[in-house]
Amino acid sequence: MSSDATTTETLESTNGNSISSVSQPLNDHPVKKDDDFDASNDEDEEEEEEDDENNDDDSVVSAPLAHLTLMNEEGIERMKLEEIAELVKTKSCNKIIVLSGAGVSVSAGIPDFRTPGTGLYDNLQKYDLPFPEAVFDLGFYRYNPQPFVSLARELWPGTSGIKPTLSHSFIRLLEEKDVLLRNYTQNIDGLEVLAGVSPEKMVECHGHFRSAGCVDCKAPYDGELCKRKILEGTLPLCTKCGGLVKPDIVFFGESLPSRFGRMIQSDLREADMLIVMGTSLKVAPVSLIPEIVDDDAPRLLLNRDLVGDFCQTRENMRRDVWEEGDCDVSVKKFCDLLGWTEELHKINKHS
Ligand SMILES: [Zn+2]
Repeated sequence: MSSDATTTETLESTNGNSISSVSQPLNDHPVKKDDDFDASNDEDEEEEEEDDENNDDDSVVSAPLAHLTLMNEEGIERMKLEEIAELVKTKSCNKIIVLSGAGVSVSAGIPDFRTPGTGLYDNLQKYDLPFPEAVFDLGFYRYNPQPFVSLARELWPGTSGIKPTLSHSFIRLLEEKDVLLRNYTQNIDGLEVLAGVSPEKMVECHGHFRSAGCVDCKAPYDGELCKRKILEGTLPLCTKCGGLVKPDIVFFGESLPSRFGRMIQSDLREADMLIVMGTSLKVAPVSLIPEIVDDDAPRLLLNRDLVGDFCQTRENMRRDVWEEGDCDVSVKKFCDLLGWTEELHKINKHS
């Protein structure tokens, strides 16, 4: 099975940090394997241990929430949501990277992939797979493409009445206000583009359904034709070599889209703010973006959980804001502060 194939990316920050990491396709939204999961955690732990050795203060704050109160008592001046809003409103920050994950699509009704019982992986019995992740495994697709074709038919963006959420519309609003540098999404549901975000403002880190290609000779295949075939329940085949065609979403055994590698370095150099929405930040290299963005860039986390290195050091506590809760609720609150509420709802109604 080719699912262990990996590529290595090196990400460098403007402050001289560089992180080499294994690029593992699929994520947060579609799938991830336990060994990758552990590898990423191990990396984090190693980094934390190094930090602890180098800096006693960091060891005090490396444990999560319990220490926040302590740190407040120590007089750390923390960024507030109102201040982040002001920076956006006045365009003092106008090159914002938004990093989004499954959480922005939950209220759209996109099935969660991993929740026991109700998640996608627990409901694939009808496809008789050897293991649930096989549905997104390139080696298995070559052996038996039918389960993926059936699933893709059910999930194809824009065909199932699934509509973009307020969170997707907020990203479009950032673009309309000319403050969005790029949206890196880990989702494959294409809802950002359906919400009206320009494809050039997007890096869909795990691909999308709009284009397609041959899994053997890699020849591009008409995206609309691929869609039509799959919705009919037939297999799209390469006109050049007769090989199997699939939409350009990243399977196990494939590297991330080349667009990710082309954009990430310059985007990280340019970015002056980071907004992270609805992701557990568990899978590299996307999960490393918050660590590499410029040290002076304020970082806003709209998420149910505190993730990554948000609020974990004195420096980060000064520039980080964690708005705890569901993305759409936090987006509404943030847009209220920005004075964008009316526009947000207008966009969402029409998207
Ligand atoms: Zn081919």
